[in-house]
Amino acid sequence: MNDKDTSIQEIKEKIAKFVKDRNWNEAHSPKNLSMSIAIEASELMEIFQWLSTEEAWNISNTEEFTHLKEELSDVIIYCLSLANQLNIDIATAIEDKIEKNGKKYPINNG
Ligand SMILES: [Mg+2]
Repeated sequence: MNDKDTSIQEIKEKIAKFVKDRNWNEAHSPKNLSMSIAIEASELMEIFQWLSTEEAWNISNTEEFTHLKEELSDVIIYCLSLANQLNIDIATAIEDKIEKNGKKYPINNG
């Protein structure tokens, strides 16, 4: 599985199966998932908490990089699980939001 050859839909299906196989659908309520996203985001921030900007840029050359990838994945897994539970087409939602952001923040090369 890698970014280039994997669709969001495939990852969403993998997450949905993982949740269903463990009977976690009831626990994975939208409320609980929104909290879980924030909790995992905090775990991601904790990795950077006392680092300088330069140390943070260099994180990929340290032993903490594996931990960082795990916490980033936790955030994204919960985001995609929330999209699953609420039947959100997240690719369309992201496209729509990028378009909206583009109007709010137009390119200004002047
Ligand atoms: Mg975590």
